[in-house]
Amino acid sequence: MQDDFAHLPWLSRTERGLCVESIALTDIAAQHGTPAWVYSKQALSKHWQAFADALSGRKALICYAMKANPNLSILRFFAEAGAGFDIVSGGELARVLQAGGSASTIVFSGVGKRRDEIRDALTAGVKCFNVESAAELRRIGAIAADLGLRAPISLRVNPDVDAKSHPYISTGLKENKFGIAHQEALALYREAAKHPGLKVVGIDCHIGSQITDMPPFMAALEKLLELIEQLHSQGIALSHLDLGGGLGIRYTDEDPPSPAAFMQSIVDRIERHPQAREMELIFEFGRALVGNAGLLLTRLEYVKQNGDRLFAVVDAAMNDLIRPALYEGYHPIIEVHPTTGEPKLYDVVGPVCESGDWLGKARSLRLGVEDDLLAILSAGAYGMAMSSNYNARPRAIELLVDGTSLRVIRERETVASLWQSEV
Ligand SMILES: *Cc1c(COP(=O)(O)O)cnc(C)c1O
Repeated sequence: MQDDFAHLPWLSRTERGLCVESIALTDIAAQHGTPAWVYSKQALSKHWQAFADALSGRKALICYAMKANPNLSILRFFAEAGAGFDIVSGGELARVLQAGGSASTIVFSGVGKRRDEIRDALTAGVKCFNVESAAELRRIGAIAADLGLRAPISLRVNPDVDAKSHPYISTGLKENKFGIAHQEALALYREAAKHPGLKVVGIDCHIGSQITDMPPFMAALEKLLELIEQLHSQGIALSHLDLGGGLGIRYTDEDPPSPAAFMQSIVDRIERHPQAREMELIFEFGRALVGNAGLLLTRLEYVKQNGDRLFAVVDAAMNDLIRPALYEGYHPIIEVHPTTGEPKLYDVVGPVCESGDWLGKARSLRLGVEDDLLAILSAGAYGMAMSSNYNARPRAIELLVDGTSLRVIRERETVASLWQSEV
């Protein structure tokens, strides 16, 4: 199968080879080296605008789930666009503030919030804590009361629906560590409503990632709507409904609902619910905003044959992009300048000393013997964000293309910086 990229309009083939907007990847490699993360501002804008348009005229907040790609320039783009942020750590809180984001747009998720993280988020004035357990609820309440504050909270309900994505990225089943069981939520809300350190403001869920059809979202929404009604009947009013993120993207042949179709289904259902129709709608999208706005540019080092397998050894590796190794994630891999001649099937692998260090298997490519450039597509989300220094490999440079302009948004790490804080 040939990887195509018709769904990535910011990527094109020209006589200069593959281009991101108006910049040739060959020029990027010559100027900045490889491996390199290359993002398209046009793509970021387009993805953001599709969600913003789909919700225009509604009381809504689209949060960027920043763990997908936490580069300061990407955060600043979303802050300026009017996004809120979904954070999962104190480090992420600091990053948003550093990028110029406002705490009042932040929802704080995560199962293991530490005391210092809770304190920092409270004093910064986050919009809401998405609470994941009874113990966390009590801890937040106690800290807030100590500080003379009331913590805005929402319970992250585990709706026990199967998102049908990879087991490592499904979060809404009762056997997952995330959220509060649906049947326990009611009692906890009652407890929170009476607590002097807590202010009940919302309800939320997040059922997983890379979900490519509507039924899991609609099933989760039904569970939340049911709870909203029960809470209402007990005099507990909520001001927002947060459906989390998880909307999938096209990596190869997936066909996820468009932002417009996704929102249409959600809003249609909510409009028929007496309480939910009045509530602010919140979403926490990561992958759907940035996944298809970036690629990883890499260079072919060697071609080698072992038995009947042909390997393309490239200079990017699992330490850069771990999704293939971690959840058998598929990323299209295409040539920047295909050679003439018949395509062959290659396993595209990195130099790291692990058999799990592969980026693509049995990919049809037209390659020379070395130095060809390859683009690993759909790498804008959970790419650089999950990279490491394994094998003493400095993390790659990040670049943002905007039309004819190219900006370095993170320098390549130097080898010396890797041991800077060691003795
Ligand atoms: C990771 C995460 C998201 C974003 O998931 P995507 O699949 O990237 O949209 C949203 N909310 C929470 C709580 C998360 O942990």
